[in-house]
Amino acid sequence: MNNKYTLPVPAPHHFSFAVRDIPDVTVEQRERVLKALHYNEFAFPAGMLTVDMLSDSGTTAMTNHQWAALFMGDEAYGRNTGYYVLLDTFRDIFERGGEKNWKKILDLVRTDCRDVEKMIEEVYLREYEGGLFNGGAAQMERPNTFIIQQGRAAESVLMEIVKKILAERYPGKIFTIPSNGHFDTTEGNIKQMGSIPRNLYNKQLLYEVPEDGRYEKNPFKGNMDLDKLQELIDAVGVDNVPLIFSCITNNPVCGQAVSMANLRAVSEIAHKNNIPYILDAARWAENAYFIKKFEDGYADKSIAEIATEMFSYCDGFCMSAKKDGHANMGGMLAFRDKGLFWKNFSDFNEDGTTKMDVGVRLKVKQISCYGNDSYGGMSGRDIMALAVGMYESCDFNYMEERVAQCNYLAEGFYDAGVKGVVLPAGGHAVYINMDEFFDGKRGHDTFAGQGFSVELIRRYGIRTSELGDYSMEYDLKTPEQQAEVANVVRFAIDRSRLTKEHLDYVIAAVKALYEDRESIPNMRIVWGTNLPMRHFHAFLEPYPNT
Ligand SMILES: *Cc1c(COP(=O)(O)O)cnc(C)c1O
Repeated sequence: MNNKYTLPVPAPHHFSFAVRDIPDVTVEQRERVLKALHYNEFAFPAGMLTVDMLSDSGTTAMTNHQWAALFMGDEAYGRNTGYYVLLDTFRDIFERGGEKNWKKILDLVRTDCRDVEKMIEEVYLREYEGGLFNGGAAQMERPNTFIIQQGRAAESVLMEIVKKILAERYPGKIFTIPSNGHFDTTEGNIKQMGSIPRNLYNKQLLYEVPEDGRYEKNPFKGNMDLDKLQELIDAVGVDNVPLIFSCITNNPVCGQAVSMANLRAVSEIAHKNNIPYILDAARWAENAYFIKKFEDGYADKSIAEIATEMFSYCDGFCMSAKKDGHANMGGMLAFRDKGLFWKNFSDFNEDGTTKMDVGVRLKVKQISCYGNDSYGGMSGRDIMALAVGMYESCDFNYMEERVAQCNYLAEGFYDAGVKGVVLPAGGHAVYINMDEFFDGKRGHDTFAGQGFSVELIRRYGIRTSELGDYSMEYDLKTPEQQAEVANVVRFAIDRSRLTKEHLDYVIAAVKALYEDRESIPNMRIVWGTNLPMRHFHAFLEPYPNT
């Protein structure tokens, strides 16, 4: 690799061959539509935007191999072929570390294997147990893997069943569920089960920036604060903490990476206290990439090997596959066969036999809401595209380009003099701390970060997402929860979709907006303050900053 023709810029690893045009839209047109739709960003038509950075969820440009895989989609109602492919894809990446069976079932399907005996032996009846993805009859006897079409639905199935079981056993009791950073939908699901979400990270570290804005090594700012975790368990009592979460990468805490050492340590604390440890694994591949690049001892390991170690520490996971699944739709809920989650939430007879398996309860919920366990809300073709996308996310070169785009944007903001940029960039997005952006002059009740977002749409046709005081419901929280809110706006970067030209346009726009920040309006909520996940539906109104 290191030859005398090495250049100071990296060699590209992909190119585009389908194009979508962007229309010209005037400021007046955007203003009219914003006002008519009550300044709710989610309601703003995508077709009127120049750069849409609202979310990287399901927005990926798929590869030619994924488009090809769509044609192998099997839309059968029971045990479609893609079901076997997808479960084995997860085993390959999350359990086998990319070892010798890599893509075996995907390739049997791609090459149209007609050897029925071989298919029975190696695919249809192949037994797996003890891991996160039971196979063959074991998946019937102890269901532990639930395909669900997106992350929040997986969370909601999990939270609803956990809530029911806890309410049966401890009526009226209120539980606390800590995380390094709960995503907004996870918080919403926890609150709807009547429990208290807590976000235990180091906020001071998050906002530290080195002299020139560049870290030599990623400092893993997404880590859970272990002292805070132990303190919380001691304060509320171990019996009041039914689950511990880690979000990898830490999306609400600015997409920051979580180190393997931290995952290991949280898992030790959880298990010492007999608490199941659950990963929110939307960005498992980005997190593995950061570990490979920056954590000692992982440089020579593949993304799949690192993912396998990450998942070895958990008792279960929820996952939005719309992120690092490199797919437009998909999700997964799984727990370890006979692991701690299963033990704590199943009911047993006195002789130790199972009275009610928690996996069966989850499956009932899955069937009643999303479809049977063979597809769980996904079409067969989406399942195939997801399987291929999962493997593609294990490509180091792809990850390197993706994270380099995030850094380009973050460093571009920093070099343009914009205050409050969170550095280093996250794996999927760049965040700006609104408290610093506005020189600490706007109060928590002004929702100025939302004003920033609305103004970026109005003036320049760029949509971001506010993930601070407004979306994280600062005004509805207790003082200790308020201290855990990072008042940020997120610029999400779609996978394989944006070019340097888009990023340069965004940098120029944010620089211009920064220089004119005094004129950015504050926002007030005129309807929907108390609705769960209000930012998806509330009505807003700007008012001048005086
Ligand atoms: C996107 C996301 C979710 C929710 O997933 P959806 O697929 O959007 O429903 C949950 N957790 C994290 C960390 C996410 O980024």
